[in-house]
Amino acid sequence: NNSHAFFKHGLSLNVEFILGFATLHINCNIFDPFFSLIVSSAQQGEVESCTRRKVKRLLSFQRYCHASRLLRGLVPHTPGSLHLLDDDYLGQAAHMLSKVGTWNFDIFLFDRLTNGNSLVMLMCHLFNVYDLVHHFQLDIVKLHRFLGMVQEDYHSQNPYHNAVHAADVTQAMYCYLQEPKLAEQLSPLDVFLGLMAAAAHDVDHPGVNQPFLIKTQHHLASLYQNTSVLESHHWRSTVGMLRESGLLSHLPADMSGDIEAQLGSLILATDISRQNEFLSTFREHLDNQDLDLQLASHRHFILQIALKCADVCNPCRVWELSRQWSERVCEEFYRQGDLEREYDLEISPLCNQQADTVPVIQIGFISYIVEPLFVEWHRFTDPSPLSLTMMGHIHKNKACWNNLRCAAHTPTHSPTEEPEPEGGDEEVDDEIP
Ligand SMILES: [Zn+2]
Repeated sequence: NNSHAFFKHGLSLNVEFILGFATLHINCNIFDPFFSLIVSSAQQGEVESCTRRKVKRLLSFQRYCHASRLLRGLVPHTPGSLHLLDDDYLGQAAHMLSKVGTWNFDIFLFDRLTNGNSLVMLMCHLFNVYDLVHHFQLDIVKLHRFLGMVQEDYHSQNPYHNAVHAADVTQAMYCYLQEPKLAEQLSPLDVFLGLMAAAAHDVDHPGVNQPFLIKTQHHLASLYQNTSVLESHHWRSTVGMLRESGLLSHLPADMSGDIEAQLGSLILATDISRQNEFLSTFREHLDNQDLDLQLASHRHFILQIALKCADVCNPCRVWELSRQWSERVCEEFYRQGDLEREYDLEISPLCNQQADTVPVIQIGFISYIVEPLFVEWHRFTDPSPLSLTMMGHIHKNKACWNNLRCAAHTPTHSPTEEPEPEGGDEEVDDEIP
């Protein structure tokens, strides 16, 4: 049908556009791929000088390709989606929302029950839980318009960076805001910022990483001078949608300006290349025991850390959910690798399906990114029951990936043999080669 043809056409145009100016001028072949993720990327590549007109033209083209809300009502249903939202599905979704603060919340099921509206429905529910509509005197129509824009500006064709990931991060953020250490101290503005930043933190993600945008001289890389390119785009897109929806238009200019700036500071904190910077500051505060949550600046720092935790919390979930996220993120990496191969670009670290297996990628991700962050979060929470649960899952999931990696390297391994997690009580679904 027409809309399908448009998508195909739009996608192929976009690929040509990204790769049209392709010149390789960074070297991704760093010894440890995870090291490359956490070192500063500011030095990568030269800043592309672009005329304002060119940037404007390219941005409007990107908007044309990606702003699916222009096609609202024309988007074909994804296979397996529910065409009717009958009372039964809504009832089940509402029942799930009554347990939104539980750590084994199945966001994939919730997304199916809400016919792909998990982000909007979750945010509306949480805004009610905290009475934020009343507190900030929000116009409910504008709120729905804004949330609808955010949800639709996520690319549903991305295996990982889509609206379900945003909903998952938002649900995790809600759990962290409920931590006893934090909950009593948070102001309504803190909660509002935390939820909004979580919901919008990856909006309009193109499904490729920053090094890819830099080496293909994508206009976003030159616009943001090769630094926090994606995160800057997520933030500025969010600001654009806030203004377009008029959600904050009734607030004094200095207050809405402050909200926009704080959202930026939170979203930019999710740049994984700044991990060491945040981790060492966090560690220092915990060592000195000098965090004072009465101070707005300290609460903001903890919100940054909480969002970073929520963004990488997949390995802290129960195995069955964690495994699905792992496969999705690796599928997105492999698609980038396939694009790079097709256009004779150097294949980025972790993106080579032949060399980088899911278990190896996950073990590296857990060891270098997730564990160091959650060890400190564990200390911060004193530790809380949730934190203990999450550390338990990290340990079990890492053991599962280790077993799967070993199984893949053992020629005598029979596909019917399922590796068991170390002392684990989780069921392992052995679909990984
Ligand atoms: Zn994210």
